[in-house]
Parts: sequence; structure tokens; C-alpha cells
Amino acid sequence: MKAARAENSREFSYNPQDSVSLEPGTTRLEVRGDGTTEKLKVVGGLSPNQQGQYVYAAEDARFHGANAFASAARTLALFEQAYGEPIRWSTGRQQLEIHPDNGQVLNAFYSRDDKGLFFFHSTDPVTGKVVHGADSGEVSSHETGHAILDAIRPGYMSSWSGDAAGFHESFGDVLAILTVMQDDRVLSIMAEQTGGDLRKPNLVAALGEELGITINHTAGKNATGGDYTRNAINDFVWQNPSSLPESAPPEKLSSEPHSWSRLWTGAVYDILGELVKQQLQQTQDVKQALSGARDELTEMYGRLMHQAPKGGFKYRQMAAAFIQSDLDQNGGKRSALLGKVFSQRKILGADSKLLEQASLLPQGSRRLEVTLDGPDFGPFSGAKVVSQESGQNLALTEDQAAAAELQARLKQLIKNGDILYTEPNSIPGQAQLFKPNGQPYAGVVRWQDGQMSIERVLIAS
Ligand SMILES: [Zn+2]
Repeated sequence: MKAARAENSREFSYNPQDSVSLEPGTTRLEVRGDGTTEKLKVVGGLSPNQQGQYVYAAEDARFHGANAFASAARTLALFEQAYGEPIRWSTGRQQLEIHPDNGQVLNAFYSRDDKGLFFFHSTDPVTGKVVHGADSGEVSSHETGHAILDAIRPGYMSSWSGDAAGFHESFGDVLAILTVMQDDRVLSIMAEQTGGDLRKPNLVAALGEELGITINHTAGKNATGGDYTRNAINDFVWQNPSSLPESAPPEKLSSEPHSWSRLWTGAVYDILGELVKQQLQQTQDVKQALSGARDELTEMYGRLMHQAPKGGFKYRQMAAAFIQSDLDQNGGKRSALLGKVFSQRKILGADSKLLEQASLLPQGSRRLEVTLDGPDFGPFSGAKVVSQESGQNLALTEDQAAAAELQARLKQLIKNGDILYTEPNSIPGQAQLFKPNGQPYAGVVRWQDGQMSIERVLIAS
């Protein structure tokens, strides 16, 4: 007899958006008797209500866990279906552990070493409302996106590539967009707000509204560009990242990963907008066009991740992988569209032939090691730095150029205060891996047998 898996359909509180844009609703999930799934659990557990469901009033403390769990489950299911393969977390555990309310911080993050997603709360100084990151479907999807990407491409967090860090942030935002567009109520509002023109402001392009408003109220200024944490509608074009400042007002790009991510997200959102336009040539029904475009972009992203670079990369290489994945797995049906959008964003050159992009596509990955040497590096001089880089069997000159680039990158991160110095024999705890502004350090000094090395901090917020 086949062993029965005790999985049942249960209803969960779920707001794909947050209370600023939408009233909370519910969603049904297949869970085990203890309210977990094979790959997800809420730390501390969730106690069902009297009807045996996981539906709570928004004021109930259990709402945070139910919403973050439901959002993570929906995001994971959507990606695994598009990817066509189940994923295994990089945390080394079978279940990703969701901490729905880990204290008072204005942020949320994924940590590989701490095996899960961490959400917090903060009091909005203007409204007085206690805002929980876990109550936002978009914020929860974004953090789940970090965990998913780290599962299938651990090399990105083990590289020092600024574009890989930006893509990590964008990946979470793109999965949030695709996940919330699964919700019928969201699609109705999006259809009404845009009429099918995705350049018009809408609740899907605006990510993490409630958290963004609280960030701005706390900062006492418009720190995010509007009533959101980020917005996918933008006109950013590629700039040499080494020429970018470490921080910039919201209308400008900086080298900070969330800021830099907006270029890639903007390009992907343009692709979604073009797909909607093409759908509208077949149907008058805007909602139907939105859902058709959503499904196609979801499939395209699933294909992309089979051919995406394995270690540190440049946006142009990811764009080449996107086109190559369409040529190889989709008969090239969307290659011209991809080429057009990435050229408009100056991520790819305007005159390149599509097939020539393949030469940009690195195969495999390699370990690159440098030793920081000289007065430029201050107390970090002598540190070893290892980076997982895309590409194998490079010519000597290419490898030397990559090593020089890695040194320059570390110099930039040190200058920006993104590397945490520690004394020999001191082991920093999780809280110390965050800068005073709440963002995680990019790297931390570790010592072994008197040798200093700078390791990547495996946290993405
Ligand atoms: Zn993030």
C-alpha cells in the first residue's frame, strides 16, 4: 500500500498586496497536518482557528505568519512550475524557515546562514500604525525570490559582482510582480488603472507600498520616489556601474543593489508591457491580456534561469542568456522583442545581431582569488578575496582583467563602508552584519590561522 502523505487543502489569510492597496483576502494551500509544507514552515508554528483554517483578523498576531507563508508558498509554486523542476534550498535544510515578526526593524531579509526569511515591524511616525513587513504579499514574495535564486544560483551570492547583486534584488521584484498578478482582484484593479498601458501607474508596478510609505515617513522625506518601496516603471539606461555613486536620490541610479536593480526590473517590465500590447491585438479584454502576458513572461523567466550565468556576471551577459534561452527553448519567438528592449535600455548594443549575443554568454563558472595589496586597502591590505565568476577556460589576459576588476570592486566597497572589519578571533553575530542604515554589509573579515580573508555576507534584504 502506498504511504499516504497527510496533505490537506487549508485556507490561509493572504494579501498579495498590502493594506494600502487591497483588503486582505484568503488563498487555499495544500499543507500537512501541522500547517507546513515540504519546503516551508513558520518558525513557532501556526495555530489554526476554530474552523481548522489559517485565516485571522488583520489585528491577530498570527496573520503575519499566515500571510508570509501563503505568499512564499504561492511564489515558490509559481516559480517551480515555470522552471519545471523542484528546487532545494541552499540553507542545507529541507524547509525554509519563516520568521514573521523578528523585532523592530524597518526591513526584511533572506539569510542563507540563518536558514530563512526574516520579517520585522516598525511604527510609522506619521500615522502611528505598526507596520509589519510580513503583511505585504509583495515584500514576502521578494524575500522568497532571494531564497529561490540562491537555491538555483548560489554562485551569485558567492560573487562580488554588482550586477549579480542587482539581479538578486530584481529577481525578487519580478517574482513579486508575477505572483501578485495571479490574483484576480489585483488584475481587475490593474486593468482599470492601466487600460492595458503599463506605463500608467498601477498597484503591481508599485512594490511594497505600505513599507515604502513608512520608510518615507521615518526618513522625513521622499526617499523612495513615491508611495512605494520601488516602482518598476522607469526609464533608466545602462551606465558604467563603477562611475555610479554609492547612494543617490530615487530618480537616479546608484551602485547600491536595490537602486541598481531597477534598471533590470524596468527592462523586464517593458517586456511585460510589450506582451500586453500584443495580447490586446487579439482581445479587447484587458484583464485577459494582462493574464496572458503574465503567463508568457513567467514561462520566459523559467527558461531564462536554465541558461542564466552560474557565477558573477554583467547585465549584458544575462540579457544574452535571456535571448539565447528564447532561441534554444522557444524557437526564437521573443528574441527580437528581447533584443529591442535590452538595446533601448543600453544593456545590449543597438547594432548587435541577435545571434552574436551568444558570444557574450559565459559557460560554467570558476573560482577567482585575489589578495588585496597596498595602501589603498587600509586595514584590509593582505586580505584574500574569493569570488565565484561565470565562465571557464579564460585566456590569461581575460583572467588578469577579471582579477583587476575584482580588486577595483573591493576598493569601491571598502570606500563605501560595505565591508565589516573584525579583529582576529572575533566572530560577529547576525546583528553585526548590518550597517547602521539597516542594509547588510556586502562582506566581512574572517580570520583563519592568522590569514585575513573577506567573505561575502550571505544576506539579501
Ligand atoms: Zn531584496
